Amino acid sequence: MSARSRLFATRDPFDIAGTDALFTAAVREDAAFHYAHCPPYRRMLDARGIDPSAIASPADLPPLPTVLFKHHRLFSMDERRLPVKATSSGTRGVLSHIGLDWGALFHGAKMVLRVTKWRGLLSPVPVSYLVLGYEPHKGVDMAVMKTAFGATLLAPAIRRRYALRWRDGGYQADLGYVLDELQKLASTRFPVRFMGFPSYTYFLLREMEQRGIRVTLPKGSRIMLGGGWKAFYAEAVDKQVLYDMILDRLGVLEEDVVEFFGAVEHPILWCDCKAHRFHVPAYARAVIRDVRTLAPVPMGTPGLVSLITPMIRACPLTSVMTDDLGILHPGEDCPCGLKTPYLEILGRVGLDDIRTCAAGAAALLDTGKEGDT
Ligand SMILES: [Zn+2]
Repeated sequence: MSARSRLFATRDPFDIAGTDALFTAAVREDAAFHYAHCPPYRRMLDARGIDPSAIASPADLPPLPTVLFKHHRLFSMDERRLPVKATSSGTRGVLSHIGLDWGALFHGAKMVLRVTKWRGLLSPVPVSYLVLGYEPHKGVDMAVMKTAFGATLLAPAIRRRYALRWRDGGYQADLGYVLDELQKLASTRFPVRFMGFPSYTYFLLREMEQRGIRVTLPKGSRIMLGGGWKAFYAEAVDKQVLYDMILDRLGVLEEDVVEFFGAVEHPILWCDCKAHRFHVPAYARAVIRDVRTLAPVPMGTPGLVSLITPMIRACPLTSVMTDDLGILHPGEDCPCGLKTPYLEILGRVGLDDIRTCAAGAAALLDTGKEGDT
């Protein structure tokens, strides 16, 4: 059995201490696979003199900047045979080209079931979904849409309503429609589940305030937030303000607000605890790195967030460098009782800083291209 299979068979989604050795073995195995099957990745590791099967710690594997996947097609498997191809919308319209293999889907499904069960999201009670996002449409390949749709499978769906509907060959947003549907759903006896970007949710709640609309969603309703603040940092409100608005306008308690975190380039489900902290799951590790040297920094020091998971064989996503600044805190600092460290995202660094960081890696990938046939 592969180290990946054993790691993803871990029952406790937050057993970090118990999985450390296995995690390192799985990272070695995954990176060695990409080294063998993705020539640009091999060149990059060779240029740094790194043998992926011999690394002492997952942090020793150089992270690939996520922007690299927007400009290069990096695959370790035949792209045409992959069951899932996803593209990230990107804040500037540049797409990342990522694929997932069958193994990643299988292990990913187990991870999603364990994490959502832990957070009480897995339920046999039928619910109505209100997705503040895109309605699925044939031929549209956005990862954010697939994630949102995936979230509507955690409890049986009576109905699904989408804020962005496919009409006449394109997506249309209709706030009036969303507010009408919300009021209709609130009057049924079935719980309602919201799924959307925090920013969209905030805009909707603000609109409800302005129009004087207030509903009380049925007991068991949940607000699921995902996708981060994206391009809306300027609008970013304090999370507590958002929770207070949710209670005031929708009648949903703060503990029933669940936030997800993840990226196309790191398709691991990070889910917040009841105290809204993102504890490191058994299936991933976060390494905070110095902005200039990229060397790992100690717990409690801010830096660039690099995320590691051995889940994917299709693309060399073992260790990626995000453009987020973050900090790792000791688990004991969270009142929820989980002892594993938690990751706090502080915001996004300037694009120029990331370009500098990505340029180095891209230059390495380009080196020796002539010799590669
Ligand atoms: Zn916690």
